Amino acid sequence: MFKEYFEFGCKDLGIDCDFLIQSSSKDELMEIALDHFAKIHGKKEIQDGEKNEMHEAIRTITVI
Ligand SMILES: [Zn+2]
Repeated sequence: MFKEYFEFGCKDLGIDCDFLIQSSSKDELMEIALDHFAKIHGKKEIQDGEKNEMHEAIRTITVI
């Protein structure tokens, strides 16, 4: 049986931060990441371009 989840970290965007999220839901992952950016990096407004960058940086991990 395969199990899939998504992974995203600040380092994927070239940010020097150890924050790493794993979630089975991409939407949830984005939500947590945006919350983290707002609280930790003071980025309250994320541009569409940056959101696209995040989407592209999200890795899909398959567990066998
Ligand atoms: Zn961070």
